[in-house]
Amino acid sequence: NHLFALVRGALPAEPAARTFIETAEGCRYSYADLMARSAAYSAALTAMGVRPGDRVAAQVEKSAEVIFLYLGAVRAGAVFLPLNTAYTAPEIAYFLSDAEAALFVCDPGRREALEPVAAQAGVPRVHTLDAAGQGTIAEAADAAAGDFADVPRGPDDLAAILYTSGTTGRSKGAMLTHRNLASNAVTLAALWRFTAADVLIHALPVFHTHGLFVATNIVLATGGGMLFLPRLDARLILSLMPRATAMMGVPTFYTRLLKEPGLTREAAAGMRLFVSGSAPLLAETHREWRARTGHAILERYGMTETNMNTSNPYEGERIAGTVGFPLPDVALRVTDPDTGRVLGTDEVGMIEVKGPNVFTGYWRMPEKTAAEFRADGFFITGDLGKVDPQGYVHIVGRGKDLIITGGYNVYPKEIETEIDAMPGIVESAVIGLPHADFGEGVTAVVVAGEGAPDEAGILSALEGRLARYKCPKRVIFAEDLPRNAMGKVQKNLLRERLSGLYA
Ligand code: ATP
Ligand code: MG
Repeated sequence: NHLFALVRGALPAEPAARTFIETAEGCRYSYADLMARSAAYSAALTAMGVRPGDRVAAQVEKSAEVIFLYLGAVRAGAVFLPLNTAYTAPEIAYFLSDAEAALFVCDPGRREALEPVAAQAGVPRVHTLDAAGQGTIAEAADAAAGDFADVPRGPDDLAAILYTSGTTGRSKGAMLTHRNLASNAVTLAALWRFTAADVLIHALPVFHTHGLFVATNIVLATGGGMLFLPRLDARLILSLMPRATAMMGVPTFYTRLLKEPGLTREAAAGMRLFVSGSAPLLAETHREWRARTGHAILERYGMTETNMNTSNPYEGERIAGTVGFPLPDVALRVTDPDTGRVLGTDEVGMIEVKGPNVFTGYWRMPEKTAAEFRADGFFITGDLGKVDPQGYVHIVGRGKDLIITGGYNVYPKEIETEIDAMPGIVESAVIGLPHADFGEGVTAVVVAGEGAPDEAGILSALEGRLARYKCPKRVIFAEDLPRNAMGKVQKNLLRERLSGLYA
């Protein structure tokens, strides 16, 4: 159950001959490099005084070296703590002091600004690492190179603390154990048929569960390779497809690639799998992708706290607008948010999950942790959804986005789906805004393209299709929807922006 045992178990017979990571600049790192560099980081961290259980925080650009630093921390028994590269100094101050990091690695360009922040937060050591994989921590690893005996860890020991994306409020540190990460990697690798022959297009950030754990751990667990891109670059991805077998992305990857005329059946002919997650994939995107490439995107659902929970099938129908079935080792149920009573098929309620993937709690938040777990160990995800008669899980939105208007519950997804299906509509977000009569007024924020109906047109089209209480009171047009780094629509920003609409 040691996360690194997974890597050892999948090591190719000739580690020096097999590429683990190839960067956009054409630098190749073999599995022998992975073993040597991660050992060097383990030795360097240990020499710096990092002890088992200590948090190693890193806010650095994506590079192969970050992955080796992550694995080095894990081999040294430490707890890896990656931070979003967009975080500002005050945000970093919060994370460093909350996590009581033993070491902070930042970009050399930010060292001057962040060193005092780290000192203030009580972090004793600051090192650097840049996008090219160079910096003081890499130099320390060079100097420490040699063998390293992995520090033994139990399945319940922490391997990482990953802060949630902060979509609904302040980010919380999710404590993830060796068992959490290893079990999910093994389960997903088998489900999605990953082997050493796979080459994954990796253009996701590595400070988030999607890019760091789902993508990277699966490849590590199977001995495959990755084409590592610093960011989403649709043209570059297209040009790499002939050399790759799989890609994982957030929905934005797919909408951006669809804008490329070069995206054709021929271009994607050598690919065997396209995975989407982190935010809902529009059914329209799923259909267009299939029409253009012949591939059905496989949508799955997960979160920082649990890694992945559900997935559309590898074989069998991948249904647009659903997130598929619970993973083989994950139990999933839908409950009444108020009473906790377990609901039946097609009934909408709170999604709860239990399994080896589910985290042990929020770092230094025992009350919050206690409030989010049921007595029988199920974790309350905060996502609302249902299970249909075929067993597919549907997500209808977050509990925090549920709209209560005139005493009725309105699930935004239902209305968004109706609006998105209208001609010329690009996308929509339905939110509740303070309303004197109704408590909350249902409001649609719509991105319209050519030929889209106007406000009156949208409202009259909805009238015959939705119960009156679900129909928006107003439709507001916008250039685009605010999104965070993972492509998640920031409904809290929309609510703030439009809070006075019915005042
Ligand atoms: P915070 O918890 O700090 O508010 P967050 O929930 O956005 O932020 P993450 O853990 O990165 O942080 O995101 C997990 C959430 O992303 C899930 O709870 C779910 O709402 C959403 N999500 C992930 N995959 C999907 C999917 N395929 N379809 C719909 N929603 C998804
Ligand atoms: Mg969350």
